[in-house]
Amino acid sequence: MTSSTNIIEVKNLTKNYERKIALSSLSFSIKKGELVAIIGPSGAGKTTLLNTFATIIKPDDGFLTIAGTPSEKLTNRKALAKKIGLIRQQFDLVGQLPVIHNVLAGRLADWGLFKSLLSLIFPQEKQAAQKALERVGLADKIKDQTAKLSGGEQQRVALARLLLQKPEIILADEPVASLDPARAEDILSMLTKLVKEENQTLITSLHSVDYARKYFTRIMAIKDGQIFFDLPVDEVSDELLSDLYLLKERSDNAES
Ligand code: ADP
Ligand code: MG
Repeated sequence: MTSSTNIIEVKNLTKNYERKIALSSLSFSIKKGELVAIIGPSGAGKTTLLNTFATIIKPDDGFLTIAGTPSEKLTNRKALAKKIGLIRQQFDLVGQLPVIHNVLAGRLADWGLFKSLLSLIFPQEKQAAQKALERVGLADKIKDQTAKLSGGEQQRVALARLLLQKPEIILADEPVASLDPARAEDILSMLTKLVKEENQTLITSLHSVDYARKYFTRIMAIKDGQIFFDLPVDEVSDELLSDLYLLKERSDNAES
């Protein structure tokens, strides 16, 4: 019936906020290993879509299957952490704690309460954390207070945390929006490299079309809660992109 290579399947997915349609009956699938960039104007529905994948938002209608499981059945925190890892603009790190604890937080869903508490005093699985930090180029920062790192370094700590979590799918909502261009490129190239090495699937919303084109295999453009185009990266033309970001008053004028 459904292809086993489809890690995400979406059918007629709909989400409304009062009178606003945030997602308008979307249907598509994503294959394991794809690097999908979701682009589109502000308010298009990108965050709503990613939060639905993360099971943070419950759709009003339609079906969503994540790695073979219907999303409404993904209620177990541990099972969810095996399937979905999140990375956000604001990093979600505990600033007061040393870097190692934030990296080890990637294992919390798997650890019982005792091991989690013990780890605050005697970090458990320290070698795994050290190795992950080496992979993101922060080997020498393991004991540093997380809040003292730069924005780019903190986002790398978040990447190291994902390396310990090892989810099948990584969802990133504007992961580089708060970074300057050089650091944004640094994080995106590192994120996409690690995702390929780990055989994961990546779905990221992005403001920058240039980054989407440079680092991703597929671009899904959303506008007004609908799919405007969904294409392999080399089929995305400049014309499609300018239509996507066309200001509303121009289409309004065309009607009048
Ligand atoms: P994007 O991430 O593409 O900027 P969002 O998914 O955040 O878009 O928002 C899609 C639409 O849904 C927007 O019109 C937004 O105003 C609306 N919206 C998002 N979250 C809420 C909410 N909690 N309550 C009401 N409206 C919302
Ligand atoms: Mg958003």
